[in-house]
Amino acid sequence: MKNLWKSADVLDFIERYKKYGEDVALRTYSARLIGQDSTLVLHGGGNTSVKSRVRDLSGESIEVIYMKGSGWDLSTIEPAGHPAIELAKLTQLRKLDKLSDEEMVNQLRIHLLDSSSPNPSVETLLHAFLPHKFIDHTHADAVLAITNQVDGEQKVRDWAQTKLGIVPYIMPGFALAKLAATMYEKNPEVEGLVLLKHGIFTFGATAEESYNRMVYWVGEAEKWLDSKPSFSYHTVIKNTSYDQSEVMNVMNILRGANTLSDETKKKTQPAQDPLQRMLCGFRSSSHILDFVNSREVLEFSQIGPATPDHVIRTKPKPVLIAHEALTNVDTFPSEVKKSIENFQSNYRNYFLRQCEKQGVIKKMLDPLPRIFLVPGMGCFAFAPTRKEVTIALDIYEHTIDVIQKALSVGTYQALPEKDIFDMEYWSLEQAKLGKSAEKAFSRKIVWISGAASGIGLATAIAFARLGAHLYLTDSNENFLQEALKHPDLKNCTKGLRCDVTQKKAVEESFIQCSLEFGGVDIVISNAGFAPTSPIAECTDELLRKSFEVNFFAHQNVAQAAVKIMKRQNIGGTLLFNASKSAFNPGPDFGPYTLPKVGVIGLMRQYAVELGTYGIRSNAVNADRVRTRLYSDNLLENRAASRGISVNEYLSGNLVAEEVYAEDVAEAFVYLARARKTTGAVIPVDGGNAAAFPR
Ligand code: NAD
Repeated sequence: MKNLWKSADVLDFIERYKKYGEDVALRTYSARLIGQDSTLVLHGGGNTSVKSRVRDLSGESIEVIYMKGSGWDLSTIEPAGHPAIELAKLTQLRKLDKLSDEEMVNQLRIHLLDSSSPNPSVETLLHAFLPHKFIDHTHADAVLAITNQVDGEQKVRDWAQTKLGIVPYIMPGFALAKLAATMYEKNPEVEGLVLLKHGIFTFGATAEESYNRMVYWVGEAEKWLDSKPSFSYHTVIKNTSYDQSEVMNVMNILRGANTLSDETKKKTQPAQDPLQRMLCGFRSSSHILDFVNSREVLEFSQIGPATPDHVIRTKPKPVLIAHEALTNVDTFPSEVKKSIENFQSNYRNYFLRQCEKQGVIKKMLDPLPRIFLVPGMGCFAFAPTRKEVTIALDIYEHTIDVIQKALSVGTYQALPEKDIFDMEYWSLEQAKLGKSAEKAFSRKIVWISGAASGIGLATAIAFARLGAHLYLTDSNENFLQEALKHPDLKNCTKGLRCDVTQKKAVEESFIQCSLEFGGVDIVISNAGFAPTSPIAECTDELLRKSFEVNFFAHQNVAQAAVKIMKRQNIGGTLLFNASKSAFNPGPDFGPYTLPKVGVIGLMRQYAVELGTYGIRSNAVNADRVRTRLYSDNLLENRAASRGISVNEYLSGNLVAEEVYAEDVAEAFVYLARARKTTGAVIPVDGGNAAAFPR
């Protein structure tokens, strides 16, 4: 355990945040040190506080506690991430016998100094009831390995003797805050508190003292664990050589199977996806493989999370896929389906059992598993967004660490089912998942070719604004890197250079898209270029080149996409960028028009053959959109040949308005939502009677 404290950085923080005062600057500094270490806290986990004095509006000096606010991550926290609350109002709550969660949250909010602050952590009262100026709380892996034992309390004593107080497990909230204060008061000499199956608190008169104690005690826990002979799993699966395309196959199948159908949405909300689908991520390492390939995985993966607040990310248990299932490609999908059905039925029983035992009525959360362990391969995680998938993978990877460390000193034990249930169904915990932010394409994966410019780029931005996870490809690396910097594309986007005329490169891009997000839902085959030549004089070379890009490449894309869509078995959308010239050819545009006619045929063929798989196929016919397609003065020349200006040329349509790339993007968005439309062409050309589809 490395101590990261640096006096020079401390001075820098004090200077940088001087308007907030030294206490808050130091609080920010050491909170970040803690947040940077994933063996201490993960993604928004842990919390920190400092007690200080401020002057209120009337000039009176009052004591406050600056407490980590929910939604902030310790590794990047700013002063605003520790909102101030009037301390005396909180400490007096200790006199109460009971305080409901709702009232506790209310008390924290009404005594904030700034009403626009985020909600202070649910562990605020625990910090408030302890007398120390600085307090740090983490869920250190090493501490969990020692406390998650049948005889956890005894093991804590072996490791820390009486230097740390011990608090038995109860849910965070008012009761835990009171109990922790009582345990501290029994021995005020302690340097911190260990909360069994939960984590560790350290405290001190200064930020440095509290931080040093955290590093020291977690370091001691690691040394204590290292002093015991390390546990070696009994390996039962030896074959671990899988390539990326095999991992993709598994991801696609898992993703398709791990969905729920909401029949009500089919009728009442036509534009909404009736399937609750998620994104999938994959991780493997020697460490993960040791676990998933072992005999012990059967027992220890099914015990429960390392610390209860992980349950909202991982569900109580992962699905363990039988290795034999993986060895038979034909039966693998049905084996996966059975495993998920089994998980769901166990989950329903767990829910009903706990509701009955506790005499409560609650609404069951979705019963879909979040973690799959696949022997020989690794760990797969599910969540509504890519960021949350990473959180779930990180959490499970650390869980594997904790289990192995725990097994080296005893028998790993998680909390009883009741405590897991209480945490999973605690409204304050569910609030961390931020469900309200869902948009129309939030759980959808969109692959686009020619995405770095013109219509492709506008389409990427339109889908990104509606929450889609995007995989962008283009043959022009420079354009692509530039496009990926667009502010709307930063969070949900990956990109790869890919020339769509190269079948292998297209397939590789779909493998990478799957490994990134789990599969694909919507494919926009958009890349194209516009060669011109009188048809009678057109060289074979130019015509063939145009067919490669403007026809065969669309087939390359659709073929690769359909393989994934069929594997997922949850439908899909193919969208082609054709052209008005497919219906209404223009002079000298033969080399461009001919393959575009083919694209309309291709789109219809896919519609006819794949409707039964729920895969829809549609096209957009645009015209005269000012993009890089019109290079080398093509626009100017075409306008001049008609004796009109460029602007007149561009708005020479029935509605007399120029068509923009964003208008075409809108049509793609519409078609992606139009669940009952397939085999259709939408013109986006401002109206051109000669180009009406027929
Ligand atoms: P654009 O030139 O701005 O964008 C096309 C993109 O496709 C470029 O980024 C280019 O690098 C990429 N590309 C070209 N060949 C590729 C290949 N082999 N592999 C991968 N990427 C490749 O032009 P745009 O107008 O946005 O064109 C997009 C699509 O719209 C084309 O299919 C075009 O035929 C169609 N279209 C455009 C218009 C229009 O008026 N602009 C009208 C009808 C149809």
